[in-house]
Amino acid sequence: MEELTTDILVIGSGLAGILSAFEAERQGAGVLILGKFAIGMGTNSSLAGGGFLAANSVYSAEDHLRTTLEAGRGLNQPGLVKTLAENGSRAIEALKGYDVPMVERKTGYRIGRPENSPQLSGVLLMKILAERLRGSRVTLLPGFSVFDLVLEEGAVRGASGSTGTGDPV
Ligand SMILES: Cc1cc2nc3c(=O)[nH]c(=O)nc-3n(C[C@H](O)[C@H](O)[C@H](O)COP(=O)(O)OP(=O)(O)OC[C@H]3O[C@@H](n4cnc5c(N)ncnc54)[C@H](O)[C@@H]3O)c2cc1C
Repeated sequence: MEELTTDILVIGSGLAGILSAFEAERQGAGVLILGKFAIGMGTNSSLAGGGFLAANSVYSAEDHLRTTLEAGRGLNQPGLVKTLAENGSRAIEALKGYDVPMVERKTGYRIGRPENSPQLSGVLLMKILAERLRGSRVTLLPGFSVFDLVLEEGAVRGASGSTGTGDPV
C-alpha cells in the first residue's frame, strides 16, 4: 500500500477544508488536501446559494446572534451561535482576501456574480478558491475517499482510503 506523508492532512475540500488548508500553509506547514471528487466540487459548498448572514454596516453582530437564536427556537447551542456571530464579518473579510467578490445585503453578504451568469454562486466560490489552491504550495489529492482514520495513542495520526481507481493509500 502506498504511503504519503505530510504535516497536515485536510480531509474534504469544501469551504471549511480549503480555508483550513490555506491557514495551515500560511503558518508554514506542509499541507495535503483531499476531496472525493475534483477539488472543491461535489461538495455542499459548491451547491450553496452564496448568501451569508454576518454583521455588516446595518446588521450588527448582536442582531446576528438574536435572529439566529430566534430562528433556532431553543435548539441552538448559544455559545456556538455567539462565536458565529462574533466572527462572521472576519470570515467575510478572509474570503475577500482570497479574491471572492462579496456584496453587502440587508442581513450580511452575498457572492457577487456576473450578471446573467448561469453558474451557481457556490460553484463560483469554489472555483475561485480551488484555482488559488492550485497556485499555492498545498498538495492536492482529488478523487480520494477516506475509509478510516489511523489512531496512535488515542490521537489521529492519519487516514487510509482509496483513489478513484481503487488503489489503497
Ligand atoms: C443546496 C444548498 C444550498 C445552500 N445554501 C447556502 C447558503 O446560501 N449560505 C450558506 O451559508 N450555506 C448554505 N448551504 C450550507 C453550506 O453549503 C454548508 O454549510 C457548507 O458548504 C459546509 O461546508 P463544509 O466545508 O463543512 O462541507 P462540504 O462543502 O460538504 O465539504 C465536505 C467535504 O468532505 C468530503 N468528504 C466527506 N467524507 C469524505 C470521505 N470519507 N473521504 C473523503 N472526502 C470526504 C466531501 O467530498 C467534501 O469535499 C447550502 C447547502 C446546500 C446543500
